[in-house]
Amino acid sequence: MAGTGARQIAASGVRRAGEFRHLPKADLHVHLEGSLSRALLCRFAHRQGTAGLRAHDLAFHDFDGFLRAFARVCSFLRRPLDFQLAVQALGRRLRRDGVIHAEVFFSPQVHTRRGLKYADLANALEQGARLVQAAGGPSMLFIADGVRQWGVEPFQRLLADLERHPFPSVVGIGLGGLEEAIPSRAFAPAFAAARARGLFAVVHAGETGPPAAVLEAVELLGACRVGHGVAASQDGELLRWLRRRKVTLDVCLTSNRRTGACPAGRPHPLAGLVGAGVPVTLGSDDPALFHTTLSGEYARAAACGLDDAALRRVAGQAARASLLPPHARRRLLATLEAAWRAWRPEDG
Ligand SMILES: [Zn+2]
Repeated sequence: MAGTGARQIAASGVRRAGEFRHLPKADLHVHLEGSLSRALLCRFAHRQGTAGLRAHDLAFHDFDGFLRAFARVCSFLRRPLDFQLAVQALGRRLRRDGVIHAEVFFSPQVHTRRGLKYADLANALEQGARLVQAAGGPSMLFIADGVRQWGVEPFQRLLADLERHPFPSVVGIGLGGLEEAIPSRAFAPAFAAARARGLFAVVHAGETGPPAAVLEAVELLGACRVGHGVAASQDGELLRWLRRRKVTLDVCLTSNRRTGACPAGRPHPLAGLVGAGVPVTLGSDDPALFHTTLSGEYARAAACGLDDAALRRVAGQAARASLLPPHARRRLLATLEAAWRAWRPEDG
């Protein structure tokens, strides 16, 4: 009888993160700064001769509180070497979780404001990614994430930095922060210039903002993927448009709950997005701040109602929507599909 009960639970979508850890996965939405463990931040603080962090120092209850915690974490990154160490620590964290490819946001404006040089920190990321690859992966690409509420001019300076100091692993530019601070239209010329120089646009939209923000990210900024985009679930016409245009949404379930973007007590719109045929991937976003892993996100997606076939599709979509060159993308897709096809979910 116990076995039957367990099977029923498994069939109803309850899965543990551990069931996904051994499966190869790609995380297309993870922030370097939000991945730093408290232990690593305390090591940085010790070297800097400043006070370490207590457990509740990074606590938050809403989106504004989250942004403050994120800024606090950034303040511990002071030397280029810190960025290399941060990338190596993220690499270890992802490798332990079965992630074989990651597309990592970093926030250069936050650091150059404090006096760091873009070229030094991007070079440190590049070195870190090489060391991670040599240690067994995952492969890493980077997306320079602009701060929307700081305005267009600082964003243009970020773009100028990227142009002056190209690095092979920095392949994208994005926009995050307070969604409704400045309209996307204001950033359209800068994004057009970035795309003309071969950079991919990956934009946070429809996280705390309205469905129209998702449309604008694609139409005005040329986003090839949208970070979150969950507000699209409120607009059936937009869902059909996203499906037709094959725009991928990188959905971060734990993040949405912890920031209040999708309040607890209401079902998360993930299953609706998948049901509408919108391409979706799962991301861990800021795994240290949200206490999650990509495996944990897959378990959460099962709890949201995604069946095993849908989870397989989502896993493969992370390869299809990746910013890798075509041959590497095909190789990643083949690896993911082979492993997930052979996956036999535990049935208790
Ligand atoms: Zn994000």
